[in-house]
Amino acid sequence: MNTSFSSETKNELARIVIGDKCCQAAELSALLRFNGRLELTRNKRKTLCITTDNAGTARKAFKLFKSLSEFPLTVIMETKKRFNTNRFYMVRAQLDIENAAVLKKLGLIDQEKGLVFGVAPEMVKSRCCKRAYLRGAFLARGSVSRPGGSYHLEITCPSYELAESVQKLSDGLGINFRIIERKSRAVLYLKDSEQIADCMRIMGANYALLEFENIRAFKSMKNQVNRQVNCETANLEKTLNASIRQVEVIQQLIDKIAVQGIPEQLRELALLRLDYPDATLRELGEMMNPSLSKSGVAYRMRKIEKLGERL
Ligand SMILES: [Zn+2]
Repeated sequence: MNTSFSSETKNELARIVIGDKCCQAAELSALLRFNGRLELTRNKRKTLCITTDNAGTARKAFKLFKSLSEFPLTVIMETKKRFNTNRFYMVRAQLDIENAAVLKKLGLIDQEKGLVFGVAPEMVKSRCCKRAYLRGAFLARGSVSRPGGSYHLEITCPSYELAESVQKLSDGLGINFRIIERKSRAVLYLKDSEQIADCMRIMGANYALLEFENIRAFKSMKNQVNRQVNCETANLEKTLNASIRQVEVIQQLIDKIAVQGIPEQLRELALLRLDYPDATLRELGEMMNPSLSKSGVAYRMRKIEKLGERL
């Protein structure tokens, strides 16, 4: 998996600014369901925390929290280095004492204050919000391979329930994810290049899509040319293999019975073959005097080979 194409795509998705509050809430809901958790701080205050290794995703989460400012939130963004190499970004939003409204608004708990495990249906009523949710899920846990090798797009889900929920949502957008279970996680994935292109279009990754389509078109053209070249090469090889065999037979004949020993009606063709080992049968026929059709040449060539076998 090429991470740089994934991060290119994510960086682009992170820059998309959606004005509608409904979509903002849907996207943030996805970021929280896929990459977030509810923490209890030392002073017993609740904090929504999103952790990601992608700077763009962190900035997006920060902006969404800020934009949905009807919530009384204090948003902090911090960077942590793990193992000195990987950078992690944490976006924390401190909740007010009365936090049920926020959690409900973000589709994390339902009316009865029970936890929502899938996608809260009221978050994704309209198509615009479904797209936003899918984008959030990809920003949180998605990856896509550069279309040079095999085609693959996936979103790792923390639970099977959530995977099925997102699968259903995506079906409504014409994207048909499949689910595979991997290390107790459910992974939504696409293998079909057409579907991957559609998915990128729906999420709004237009520049990444352009690159994807360019490489895809180039790849299909290259395949076409390759097929043609392979076909021509195969024909050429067939001609050459036959010719090598014929030259061997003719040389053995000359060794054993000398040129004069080769029957007269075969002699001209035998000598022409020695002189032009890479000529096709048609070309040999044209060089003969009088000229001979391809089938006529083939017939005489078979006779030469039979003569070689007999000796
Ligand atoms: Zn919307």
